[in-house]
Amino acid sequence: MTLQNVYPWILRAQKEGWAVGAFNANTLEQVQAIVIAAQAEHAPAIIQVSRRALTYIGSDNEIQGLKYIAAIGKVAAESVTVPIALHLDHGTESEVLQAIALGFTSVMFDGDGLPFDKNLSITKRLCNTAHSLGICMEAEVGEVPKPDGKEYDESAIELTQPDEAAEFAKATDADTLAVALGSVHGLKAKTVSLDLDRLKEIRSRVTTPLVLHGSSGVSDKDIKQGVSMGLCKVNVATQLSQAFTGAVREVLRKNEELIDPRKYLVAARNAQIEIVRKRIRFLGASGKAK
Ligand SMILES: [Zn+2]
Repeated sequence: MTLQNVYPWILRAQKEGWAVGAFNANTLEQVQAIVIAAQAEHAPAIIQVSRRALTYIGSDNEIQGLKYIAAIGKVAAESVTVPIALHLDHGTESEVLQAIALGFTSVMFDGDGLPFDKNLSITKRLCNTAHSLGICMEAEVGEVPKPDGKEYDESAIELTQPDEAAEFAKATDADTLAVALGSVHGLKAKTVSLDLDRLKEIRSRVTTPLVLHGSSGVSDKDIKQGVSMGLCKVNVATQLSQAFTGAVREVLRKNEELIDPRKYLVAARNAQIEIVRKRIRFLGASGKAK
């Protein structure tokens, strides 16, 4: 299939109480693993790339990175018969516009650090552009921290305020809304819990489908509960990298003479297929591609 706008699946997930998985990719093998896993599970799925992935893929040139991933994502989606979207995660305004121009079918504008009104006005403008082209638009209210391996101040996390979420959703017409419920990007262990009371409050006031960022650090029990309460796009990144890199480490440890990159990358791709399939099943998306 050509790259799809997965918004209809996200709406269906919202209605039925499951979630579409959005899986981060940094390499060709990771992109392939996502679509192979989605096909095996008969599930819709989202290939997701962050700004740092773009910088890596484009050898320090983000635009080049966008071009590469747009081409790779298109070929990957066309290699399977389940709906696959290509999503830009945490983009700036100009990156979002570039991604749309290059064929991404889903984009997120990250207004982190901007005053509420400014985030709202830029999001609104981008929604108009995205919607005129049939592209799914994600916005964020509050901030899921990105400590990037460094210490972070838990007390300084800006959790999403339900009244702000309601105002934002109403004013911007965003398709999906990322909310901060206590999760953190990049955690290597499941050590945080979600503020589910806050989720309940937001959900009672916002009909826009909600998105969870930083799921790798959240207990499965909380994710499951959150999905049943209205989180219907769940982003997964760190867990995938752990499986991918773990497989490379294992192969190289067993054979220190090995030089053929295909030998360890095929192991990494297989490990990533397994973890993506597991998360698709966990999120209840298995068999939902029809
Ligand atoms: Zn994120």
